[in-house]
Amino acid sequence: MAVLTVVALAVLALVLRLIYTKFFPYRPCRWCRWRAARQARHGRGRRRLGRACWRCHGTKLTRRWGAWHAAKLVDSIGRAIAERGAD
Ligand SMILES: [Zn+2]
Repeated sequence: MAVLTVVALAVLALVLRLIYTKFFPYRPCRWCRWRAARQARHGRGRRRLGRACWRCHGTKLTRRWGAWHAAKLVDSIGRAIAERGAD
């Protein structure tokens, strides 16, 4: 019984995570922050500040891990429920 509870909680957490990732797929770019912190520690730094970050290309926003798959999965589940409700 305890195992079932753990599995149920895990599935629930996963579903909540998927829904959260679908509706909030973007987050501030972590790489830009690390870069800024490193440059602050090193003083002037040897790297050029004007270069765009390889991760977000200067937008300061990156997609969360699995955002694309979460969107696809939630969409397909939603469509399946909608189709089932139709008949
Ligand atoms: Zn960045």
